[in-house]
Amino acid sequence: MSNYPDLKLYIGGAWRKTADELPVLNPADEAVIGAVPVARRADLDAALEAAASGFRIWSQTSPRRRGEVMLAAARLMRERVEEIAQSITLEHGKPLAQARLEVVRGCEFFEWDAAEGQRTYGRVIPSEPGIKYIVLHQPIGMVAAFSPWNFPMSQPSRKIAGALAAGCSIILKAAEETPAGAFHIARALHDAGLPPGVFNLVFGVPSEISDYLIPQDQTRLIAFTGSTAVGKHLTKIAAEHMKPVLMELGGHAPVIVCDDVDPVAAAVTSAIRKARNTGQVCTSPTRFFVQEPVYEVFAKTFAEKARSIVVGNGLDPATQMGPLANHRRIEAMETMVADARAKGARVLAGGERLGNRGYFFPVTVLADVPDDARAMREEPFGPLALISPVSSLDQAIEKANSLPFGLAAYAFTHSASTADRLAETIQAGNVSINTLEASVPETPFGGVRDSGYGREGGAEGLAHYTIIKNVSHRMAI
Ligand code: NAD
Repeated sequence: MSNYPDLKLYIGGAWRKTADELPVLNPADEAVIGAVPVARRADLDAALEAAASGFRIWSQTSPRRRGEVMLAAARLMRERVEEIAQSITLEHGKPLAQARLEVVRGCEFFEWDAAEGQRTYGRVIPSEPGIKYIVLHQPIGMVAAFSPWNFPMSQPSRKIAGALAAGCSIILKAAEETPAGAFHIARALHDAGLPPGVFNLVFGVPSEISDYLIPQDQTRLIAFTGSTAVGKHLTKIAAEHMKPVLMELGGHAPVIVCDDVDPVAAAVTSAIRKARNTGQVCTSPTRFFVQEPVYEVFAKTFAEKARSIVVGNGLDPATQMGPLANHRRIEAMETMVADARAKGARVLAGGERLGNRGYFFPVTVLADVPDDARAMREEPFGPLALISPVSSLDQAIEKANSLPFGLAAYAFTHSASTADRLAETIQAGNVSINTLEASVPETPFGGVRDSGYGREGGAEGLAHYTIIKNVSHRMAI
């Protein structure tokens, strides 16, 4: 409890308590560790007013100065890494080492965008004498952003950094289940001297907040990360009001394992990655399509490595994988495993909840999983690895592309021509060969089809936060 912050809303540069609060639970023991304030209409109105004034100030602040404030905030968060990581582990459950890495990754998003904001170049279009056509990239306005519970610090960082670098103001509704990450970002921005109203943080009833904020005239972009179902719902509301959206939604990442690689190395790497964040990652490697000659060795090694992963309280230094973040994920894992089993899958490791206090579920390896198993079609969002044999690369590609998702995809191969073919044909926003890392701050990240719309990070990341204006200027009439 002592390491968990006293949470507040952050509106117009001031901290705010509310009459209503929701408990925050530690998923490792289900104990109440804190209380998150619930914003009501008056709080949202205050945030809107603050964000309007914040936008006037920030959009007129030079990109260099914006970058300085962002870098100062990142420096403070790096200094506070231990405190922030502790609170993330308490509310989310992930091992402290992973929480520390997440804090650093959040800082990297700020650092990358702080520099990128100074490169939102326009263009001068060659034209006849006496007239100039100038293309300007201007900040889009106030952003209504919604971040999820799986990465309490790095998910909000991406959205906040993009918006701030482009010169926008922002109202962020962060996840009520894991509010501390965003709270610490607000603290750092405040201490770094961000002008009041530029960044505002609220929590509450998600649908109440999105229903109210999206239609507001001053809301000019809706940026959401979360499930495809909620993303589609918010996109419909946005469409009624002709608002653009940036949607980072679910995935169901395929991994194609070719028979020209060492199946043991590929399996060990995959099992370790599967355990990251207890599999609650939209890019988590999940559907393993393995060429028949290396199938059995790959599956056996994956299961052995999975069984060796130490599951426990994230504060224990021995822990390699923490609990699931909430009870909904336990139910999802149990339902999906039972369904796959009934349809003929072999359970090679895990498969059942560990204990009955805390939301612990082991890395679960299912082999021979048929295409019609529920877990093969719906994103498990947990530590499930589904392994199936394929007789050819064509079959692997067909299976990889068979779902409506297209966020991350992976392949293990030493053949340059196979790698090139997969990079060209897999329908996903991110294809990684011989690595299970799907995104870093300097590369654009996002999905296709049901995985969403738009890109965060990289040189492309600020595009959504800006509007393009063409100025036609005749030198005399
Ligand atoms: P959910 O669909 O209820 O909620 C997903 C997220 O959307 C949560 O953060 C929630 O607070 C928010 N949300 C829900 N309704 C909203 C509304 N009307 N307005 C604004 N925000 C709203 O599911 P869940 O049980 O919290 O999470 C499980 C599923 O969510 C997973 O299966 C996964 O697909 C998806 N998810 C994806 C990511 C990601 O990084 N893409 C992160 C977290 C969850």
